[in-house]
Amino acid sequence: MDAYRDQLAAFDPGVFSSITAEERRQADGIELIPSENYTYPEVLAALGSVLTNKYSEGYPGRRYYGGQENTDAVENLARERACALFRAEHANVQPLSGSPMNQAVYFGLLQPGDTILAMDLSHGGHLTHGAPVSHMGKVFKFVRYKTRPDGGIDYDEVMDLARTHGPKLVLAGHSSYPREYDYAAFRRIADAVGARTMADISHIGGLVAANVLANPLDAGFDVVTTTTHKSLRGPRGGLILCKAELAKTIDSAVFPGLQGGPHMNQVAASAVTFKKAAEPEFVAYARQVLANAKALAAALAAGGARLVTGGTDNHLMVVDTVASFGLDGRQAEEALDRIGITVNRQIIPDDLRPPLRPSGIRLGTPASTTRGMGEADMEALAGWMIAALKAPEDGGLLASLHNEVATLCRRFPVPGVER
Ligand SMILES: *Cc1c(COP(=O)(O)O)cnc(C)c1O
Repeated sequence: MDAYRDQLAAFDPGVFSSITAEERRQADGIELIPSENYTYPEVLAALGSVLTNKYSEGYPGRRYYGGQENTDAVENLARERACALFRAEHANVQPLSGSPMNQAVYFGLLQPGDTILAMDLSHGGHLTHGAPVSHMGKVFKFVRYKTRPDGGIDYDEVMDLARTHGPKLVLAGHSSYPREYDYAAFRRIADAVGARTMADISHIGGLVAANVLANPLDAGFDVVTTTTHKSLRGPRGGLILCKAELAKTIDSAVFPGLQGGPHMNQVAASAVTFKKAAEPEFVAYARQVLANAKALAAALAAGGARLVTGGTDNHLMVVDTVASFGLDGRQAEEALDRIGITVNRQIIPDDLRPPLRPSGIRLGTPASTTRGMGEADMEALAGWMIAALKAPEDGGLLASLHNEVATLCRRFPVPGVER
């Protein structure tokens, strides 16, 4: 790796300086965007390997190009480890990222024009769950369920929607919902109308792998999708898990339905990630992600932040910054940026403000926990954030808070970044 770095530095100082500057940025600030994480040095090594040179269209044992003895071995490892980790009957490890992964499932299970019952986007659903700006929103008909103010889902209401609209697919999953699901209730609703069930656990994949959150496959879900980055801490990529009876359908929906050659360096990196996630250290990590999220949420609430749904069951939380501090999400994001803390602006349920100036921010603990931070550090961070959000114009205060953040960062190195 180091030799490769030296060669890159000598050949292309422009690109190399952006990489080293990004290393500094990641090490010198606190990452609270809940979808981000720091991957393992072993994953970086697999991603930077010669497997990137190889074309492997098809699946192990059934490829369209020769020379596949090593790629077959590595893809089989990835599939077997994914199945063991998630108690799945079948795994497809080829999706290039989360968005093509979900598209492949929709096209595999449905016909254009079919109805999908999914979570309202402002209540936590993801772009790939049929946002009007996405192509999927044009191809399929999305009907929405919402959450109650306490964050619960009214499953009777979801049942009524299912009976009224006759979806072919019932989708549970989120990118900004801080609560746990009742997967069995979704399964019953889908069964009542003859629909398939899909859970998109992209954000919480690592927490489900570690069994600190419920696994939808245990409740009999047909298909589960997850990104391999985010809380799983692996390479950018997607993973589809399904029942054996759907294996052929899902595999041919990914290739040749949607994609060409898989990125075998990414598949190898996913295999490494699944091996890491099966170790006891990863379970301890996942528990700490949850403990840190609870500590952060409690400290923010104690400091006057209004949390959407009042708290969190997982790794993330959403703060209504307009109600709490009189700042829109962009102003709050910028104030926290100035003290070295990265969050993202976020729409809140039924937000009337535009997405670029929404009513809140979203925060989560996977990345800071990877650095080794614990509950006391979360309480310190919450205190600094509250102070900054209460006085976003006070340059002197923000500078001293930034110093506190920098001191904390120096205690917790980022994996893969040398100090
Ligand atoms: C992040 C995410 C995706 C998409 O992943 P990309 O890799 O960014 O394409 C899909 N679904 C959910 C719920 C997500 O959070």
